[in-house]
Amino acid sequence: MRIDLPIVGYRMLSLSDYPGCLSASVTVPGCNFRCPFCPKLDLVHHHIPMPKTPPDGLLEVLWPRLGFLDAVSVTGGEPLLHRGLPPFLEDLRRMGFRTKLDTNASRPGMLRHLVDRGLVDYFSVRIVAPLDRYTEVARYKVKPGAMEQSIQIIRRSKVQYEFTFTPVPGFHDHDDMLAIASTLAGSRRMVIRSFKPDEAEECGDLEPFSVSELDQYGDLAAPYFGEVLVEH
Ligand code: SF4
Repeated sequence: MRIDLPIVGYRMLSLSDYPGCLSASVTVPGCNFRCPFCPKLDLVHHHIPMPKTPPDGLLEVLWPRLGFLDAVSVTGGEPLLHRGLPPFLEDLRRMGFRTKLDTNASRPGMLRHLVDRGLVDYFSVRIVAPLDRYTEVARYKVKPGAMEQSIQIIRRSKVQYEFTFTPVPGFHDHDDMLAIASTLAGSRRMVIRSFKPDEAEECGDLEPFSVSELDQYGDLAAPYFGEVLVEH
C-alpha cells in the first residue's frame, strides 16, 4: 500500500540525532503549535508548495544503507499530525532500522498507538512551557490533560526518551524551568538547548542567554532528572 506521508527533506547521516547511533533523518511539515520562537517557520506555515520525496522511494534509498546506519529519525514540524507516520515507521522497523521521533507530544492518542504497536525506539519530546502556560506560549489551545497524558504514556513505556527545553529570553524564566522540572521529576534525561535568534524569524532581535545563564537553567533542572545535558 502506498504510504501517504509528506517528506520535505532528509539527511542521510547524522552523528548526533539519535544518541549513540548513526542515523538518517527525515523531515515532515506542518505543526499545530505556533510558538513565536519557532526555528522552523517555513515548515509550519509555508510547506504546501515544498517539493516532496515519495516515502517508498526514500525507503529504497535507505535500504542499502542498513548496516551502516542504525536508525532513522523523523522530525518536523510535528510528525504526529500525519496519518502516514505509523505505516512509514512500520516499514522502517520491518527493514531493521531503529526509529526515533521528535515531537511536541500534543497528540496522546497517536502516541499511544505508536507505543502499543512498538513502532518507536526513542522519543525526543520538546517541552515549550510549563503545563499551565502551554496555550499562551504555543499559541494553540492544547486540550486539557493532553500533555500530562502524553508524558505518562512515554514515561510508562519501555521506550527510551528524552525531554528537551529551549529557554527563550522574554518567554521563559527560572520559575518556568522549575515548574517543568517538577512536572517531569524522575525522568531519565533533559536536554536544555540554546535559543538561536538567527533561526527564529519572529524573535530574531532577542539577545540569547549567555553560556552561564543557560548553565543556571541546567543547574536548576539537575536534581530532577537522571541526566541533564546543556547544549550551548
Ligand atoms: S512545536 Fe516546534 S515546530 Fe511546532 S511551532 Fe513550536 S517550535 Fe515550531
